[in-house]
Amino acid sequence: MKFSDINFSRFEPAVSALERLRSYFSEKDAGYYIKTFGCQMNVRDSENLAGMLENMGLVRRKSAREADVVLVNTCCVREHAEVKVYGNVGSYCKMKREGKNMLIGVCGCMMQQKHMADEMRRRFPGVDFYMGTNMLHELPEIMLEALESGRRQERIKGPTGPVVEGLPASGRRGPSAFVNIMYGCDNFCSYCVVPLVRGRERSRAPGAILDEIASLADQGCVEITLLGQNVNSYGKGLPDKISFAGLLRQVDRIPGIRRIRFMTSHPKDLSEELMDAMAGCEHVCAHLHLPVQSGSNAVLAAMNRGYTREHYLELVTRLRQKMPQIDLTTDIIVGFPGESDTDYEDTKSLLQQVRYDSAFLFRYSVRRGTAAEKMAETVPEESKTQRLYALIAEQEAITAQRGACHVGKNEEVLVESVSARDPGEVSGRANGSWTVNLRGDKGLIGRIVPVRIIEAKAHTLYGEIVQ
Ligand code: SAH
Ligand code: SF4
Repeated sequence: MKFSDINFSRFEPAVSALERLRSYFSEKDAGYYIKTFGCQMNVRDSENLAGMLENMGLVRRKSAREADVVLVNTCCVREHAEVKVYGNVGSYCKMKREGKNMLIGVCGCMMQQKHMADEMRRRFPGVDFYMGTNMLHELPEIMLEALESGRRQERIKGPTGPVVEGLPASGRRGPSAFVNIMYGCDNFCSYCVVPLVRGRERSRAPGAILDEIASLADQGCVEITLLGQNVNSYGKGLPDKISFAGLLRQVDRIPGIRRIRFMTSHPKDLSEELMDAMAGCEHVCAHLHLPVQSGSNAVLAAMNRGYTREHYLELVTRLRQKMPQIDLTTDIIVGFPGESDTDYEDTKSLLQQVRYDSAFLFRYSVRRGTAAEKMAETVPEESKTQRLYALIAEQEAITAQRGACHVGKNEEVLVESVSARDPGEVSGRANGSWTVNLRGDKGLIGRIVPVRIIEAKAHTLYGEIVQ
């Protein structure tokens, strides 16, 4: 993509739309609720939606039942997410049928898939408005139109929209925040719907990213996670010659930011320069999420991943040479079309060889419009399930061993929240990938404290502050 293809614009809501919504909602003491499905990108989009709704005078509520405006931000990366979304939208529409006065909006990735959008329209006449993935900034106008006309409104266009800067945000009040650095994806992994629903890759200008992070730091944020479908190709098409490694080095110098994380890294674009930047930057955390998807070269080729098992393992070796403490995590798909028992065994042996701290393991689900949709050699559901559970058991054992290695050691923990199940306990993250719980109260939130690990349980470490 050339820079000239990228259209940067600033968020400027139609003032009259905002004002009219404000007076309409403030009279009613109205509230909103957003249900978010899917990845961190969607979580970040929902923070922007919340920011705009609060600009309209709406107050955040804890459930749809207490809200006047309900938004559902959808995901369609796997069938499981899609099914859950239908269930959710259905339950909100039922509330409305039973007499609750509310405005229901549905947005996000499912709306970019024609057959899913059609299914929504058919099944849920109670929905008041639909928005595509890059129409979020038009929320005030579309809501006003839905309210004034009393008829369902839709704003759905192609997925490659302009990069809109300056949207308000609300949501994360803790010490860490997500920052989008790019949108879309150009990789077309053969199983993946993301390029179809999020469009072509567009990087944000470095100045806008750095300003946003500096302002987050001013508000007390100490950790940021840079987001993109493939952050390693950040900068493609921008006039400023800048790589992701270059961006990382600049973020590392922002006063107040003490931890930097990022995701996702595509193995084919993980450069030596980036590994050196990670090792050299003071604040980059000792963790890399590096999705491998499969350990078989035949499956990797059919997935159009652009690397081999050997190349991936070489990357792991080099990362561990440069950063011996690094935690590695991954995503894996089992049951991709054509995956034989031998291919599956290759994935299992890669898992054993790399010894990830944790792994997200998925059963393949066919997505309409992807290249893999046309692949005939499908794996029976039963075998997919067997493989998935066997791999989960394998990884759980490795995770337990990796966790046990921390016992007796000291970790720097950024305390993020009070634990949901025990108010006398707080929860945070070590410098790598592990969650650490410890005795303490909310006064610790936002602090990075030295903690001695005393126990490892499943996916969580338990520790106590070192005095
Ligand atoms: N851009 C990221 C993440 C994309 S979606 C990346 O490249 O890693 C997150 C994960 O969902 C993927 O890593 C993949 O493991 C899984 N996934 C994507 N499409 C899938 C499908 N059709 N079936 C099962 N899992 C899928
Ligand atoms: Fe999907 Fe591949 Fe792009 Fe990730 S890199 S979003 S898996 S197409």
